[in-house]
Amino acid sequence: MNRLSLLLLCLASSSALTAQSGTTVIVNGTAIDPGTGKTMANAAITIEGDHLTAIKENSTDVPKKGDTVIDARGKFILPGYIDTHVHFFQSGDIYTRPDAVDLTSVRPYKDEHDWIERNLRDTFARYLRCGITSVVDVGGPIWNFQVRKLANSAEKAPRVAVAGPLISSVSRPQLELKGDPPIVKIDTPEQARQMVQKLAKEKPDYIKIWYIVAPPASAPPSPGLSPAAGQSDVDRAAVFRPVVHAVIEESHRLKLRVAVHATELEAARASVEEGADLLVHSVTDKPVDEAFVKLLKEKGTILTPTLVVFERYGRTFANKLELTPEEKAWGNPEVIASLDVTKLAADKLPDRIKTATANPQPVLDRIQQTYDIALKNLKTLEDAGVIIATGTDAGNIGTIHGPAIFREFQLMKQAGLTPMQILQCTTANAAKTFGGPIGAKIGSLQPGHFADLVILKSNPLDDIKNTSDIDSVMKNGVLYPVDSILK
Ligand SMILES: [Zn+2]
Repeated sequence: MNRLSLLLLCLASSSALTAQSGTTVIVNGTAIDPGTGKTMANAAITIEGDHLTAIKENSTDVPKKGDTVIDARGKFILPGYIDTHVHFFQSGDIYTRPDAVDLTSVRPYKDEHDWIERNLRDTFARYLRCGITSVVDVGGPIWNFQVRKLANSAEKAPRVAVAGPLISSVSRPQLELKGDPPIVKIDTPEQARQMVQKLAKEKPDYIKIWYIVAPPASAPPSPGLSPAAGQSDVDRAAVFRPVVHAVIEESHRLKLRVAVHATELEAARASVEEGADLLVHSVTDKPVDEAFVKLLKEKGTILTPTLVVFERYGRTFANKLELTPEEKAWGNPEVIASLDVTKLAADKLPDRIKTATANPQPVLDRIQQTYDIALKNLKTLEDAGVIIATGTDAGNIGTIHGPAIFREFQLMKQAGLTPMQILQCTTANAAKTFGGPIGAKIGSLQPGHFADLVILKSNPLDDIKNTSDIDSVMKNGVLYPVDSILK
């Protein structure tokens, strides 16, 4: 057959293809499947409908007449990226956490929520623009379940798994609208079981615990909690542990998995001992010890480092936010504009921003201290073979929905992970956080998997920064040239 007679699709064409009823074959490119660590030159990837049906290395097959052929010569094909920690009820802008900085006199929280709701499809599209074809929202109001439904029926959107409200030892009334709070204070194991039963009706992908322990005696009080005089780290973590125990036991009884926010080593250890399936942040208060590493491995607990979020609140408030070129290009421009704290009226400035802007160095020092521990911990856990899944905590102030993942990659690289390890965390490992029948069909280039792909113009194994050199993205077998996505 004359190759010229084939329909050669220009990857730079301006409109997305609709789902193919026939067969699509991606030819001549290099396929990288991080889950297996395999790189396949001159690959032929066959797609029928929304899933992959075959992948061949060094293929000399000539596509059949009628097949749609995509020529990926000189390009690199990977499973779509997965961000395992985002929050759709937060925009990433300066108004999105009035419990952290209260700017409700500038923008009432209800207006912030309305903005978020109006812009959901735009937010979804920004994930796709960044090659992210699946995300896990690990906590928000009951409204989150509507977000999942919308994303999973919208065209330019990632697959979405969600948790509902966070079960915590503290409450955040500033974030409650229409009786639907994202964070619920639970005081007893009995209340905890009832809450899990209530959430189970929504078929959550996770039950989420926000395990906040009282700060040590030397620390300033955190909202809702006074410093605990004379208590050890273990004692402080023990206060909320009966609730953690009840939540996990009841969730597992109902076949639901549990994600836990626990950034202190002893709270993280208690969570894993109680059976947490996913730790959604790094441990940041001290280096992890051998017993903790062994425990994570034995239990098969997954850990999401969320490195980028640790710098973003502080840097935003100190007017030291250094967004990456990817964030500037593909983040929502209104969100980004709001993060310039110098544009806020002086009489509206919360003390936290005033103090940080006047004296940024202590803020930057604290961020560095957090990274000194968190990056080292990530390297320790990765080397030990703990399952690490990439996640950003996007939606928090300064952590930009979509492109924040590329800053996360930089930080994972700084921690000492290789490009292949970072990609494994972002595909095969991240798919494990998704769970269920969907999780079993994403994150890898295998026949039977969803055709969720990212096609790059340069080799991400040479430098992880090439992960943002995106030519096109395929979701559900539909190809989107990148320039067609954000319109
Ligand atoms: Zn989070």
